[in-house]
Amino acid sequence: MMSQLFDFMIQRPEFVRTPLHELPPAVAERIAAGEVIERPVSVVKELVENALDAGAQDIRIEVRGGGLRLIRVSDDGYGIPAEELAAVCERHTTSKLTTFEDLERLHTLGFRGEALASIATIAEVTIQSRAWETEQEEGEEQPAFWFTWRGGQLQERGRRARPHGTTVTVTDLFYNVPARLNYTRAARTENGHIVQLVRRYAVGYPSVRFYLALDEHTAVQTSGSGNLATTLTELYHISLEEMLQEIDVSDGEHYWLRGYMGNRVLAQSSRQYMTLFINGRWVQSRVLQEALEQGYRSLLPKGKHPLLVLALEVPPDEVDVNIHPAKIEVHLLQEAKIKDAITQTVKGLLERSPVVPESVQFPGPVLATQRRLPGPRRRGLHVAETADGYRAEVAEPGTAEVIVSLQPLAQLQQAVILAEAPDGSLYLIDQHRAHERIIYEHLRSTYSGVRAEDEEVHSHLLLEPVIIEMKRYEAELLEQRLPMLRGLGIECERFGGRSFLIRSVPASEGSEQLAAHLQELAELATEDSTDWEDHLLIGLACRSALKRGRELGPGEQRTLLKNLATVSAPAVCPHGSPILLHYSRNFLINKFDW
Ligand code: ADP
Ligand code: MG
Repeated sequence: MMSQLFDFMIQRPEFVRTPLHELPPAVAERIAAGEVIERPVSVVKELVENALDAGAQDIRIEVRGGGLRLIRVSDDGYGIPAEELAAVCERHTTSKLTTFEDLERLHTLGFRGEALASIATIAEVTIQSRAWETEQEEGEEQPAFWFTWRGGQLQERGRRARPHGTTVTVTDLFYNVPARLNYTRAARTENGHIVQLVRRYAVGYPSVRFYLALDEHTAVQTSGSGNLATTLTELYHISLEEMLQEIDVSDGEHYWLRGYMGNRVLAQSSRQYMTLFINGRWVQSRVLQEALEQGYRSLLPKGKHPLLVLALEVPPDEVDVNIHPAKIEVHLLQEAKIKDAITQTVKGLLERSPVVPESVQFPGPVLATQRRLPGPRRRGLHVAETADGYRAEVAEPGTAEVIVSLQPLAQLQQAVILAEAPDGSLYLIDQHRAHERIIYEHLRSTYSGVRAEDEEVHSHLLLEPVIIEMKRYEAELLEQRLPMLRGLGIECERFGGRSFLIRSVPASEGSEQLAAHLQELAELATEDSTDWEDHLLIGLACRSALKRGRELGPGEQRTLLKNLATVSAPAVCPHGSPILLHYSRNFLINKFDW
């Protein structure tokens, strides 16, 4: 649930800062060279990571001109002691690592001592900082110092009062590297990358407050609530908490999967809204990506991907995360187990996730005008209490338990059943898709049951056999597949030339209806793909399901809902379209302003 504290992702140790020092050449040589600063977003990444390493709770990022004119990152972290400030832009000076072995117990994002040095050689950099000193009175303004470098050379220095923390300002990026300047894309593109990066850190560190302004317009703003669901609602302007489904699955030994997945309404046409962490580190793992896709492929429309933040915790000796920043692939010892858990979790959630009557307008890659801090709407106190009171007893929407207890109230437009749940929420159920899902799962289980145990097939003898006519190449394929069709309950035989005679179809309520569609179905049965059997099952289910426009009496409505409660995916039809629309109590309270 939303209220739960969710701040596990990066376990942040107590900050014990060692003084800045130059890495001994032997150590520096053994550490792979860091990422080069290729584009403005790389600068933002390095500066934000430094702020996080300094224990910042509040990070403000300002970008102008796509990052070429200005990048400024201010934090409230532990700062840089005055006597060290002059050296931070020297190569291989770091406070985060001393020996090569330290790499193994590294808790910081940076460790090479190269980033500031590289940035200072290709831009003008001003660093202003005041270190946190424990003996000092809280809030007392101490002088802070600033240094400016240009092209790697120290230009100016001075002092100015400020609270503890650091502000790094980078201007004129790439002024002396024409090749990079040419390579840099339009400000809009660079801004898009920066927004994506900041969002990623924001979900990785829900307890840190992030603010990003692009050319003086707020693009990202989070409150640092420490609650990932809140962070997600802030980032994506999600108005209903039931649009986010919590993930919390563990085998108690090898993995712990936590996070949130957006419901169907939040599905996006880009993969960029799926964020994965392993033991607190952001990763891009092809293997886990595949596991995810396998979980949602048939349950979301083609080309759609869920909004998802998934944090995987595994025992440190069962994962090998190569911490070279350019390589974010991962090796997991228990890969098969973990993949399966991910697939099943994603699948299980989507199968039961109803749509909600609220659309979400995602901020585009760059949001120019959004200024209001969004978040779950809070109304008057008594209303919040009402909502919470209900929440406590509410079962997750879309579960068998909820569907079986639905009371049908009416059939609307001879297409949709309106039903009420015990918690007072309302459901609209698409009668055709519900029936289609029921028949499909029934066919699939009997079909695989038949193949496994040689069970008897339930078929329905048509009142009159139907003759169909195939194209030549289809006829050959169909002939080969006749035994499989028989396994499904379809008695079909060659009737000379390219004609076939169909005598029976799989037994289900709508069997007789199928007679009119046998030509189409036979064509599905000759599809040249590995999924043809499944496509045929879907086709059969679709053609025999109750049509829209068919009136249903109260008894029929109840039966339909009862059967729907027994399927594994009551929320999604076999084509991937929604079956259930859910008006939660929360939604009603919000919209009616109760
Ligand atoms: P690295 O992060 O690999 O150590 P950098 O070049 O990014 O190398 O930074 C050099 C050093 O400057 C850091 O080790 C740290 O001591 C100091 N530093 C940089 N940015 C900050 C910051 N925002 N707050 C506190 N210290 C910082
Ligand atoms: Mg760094």
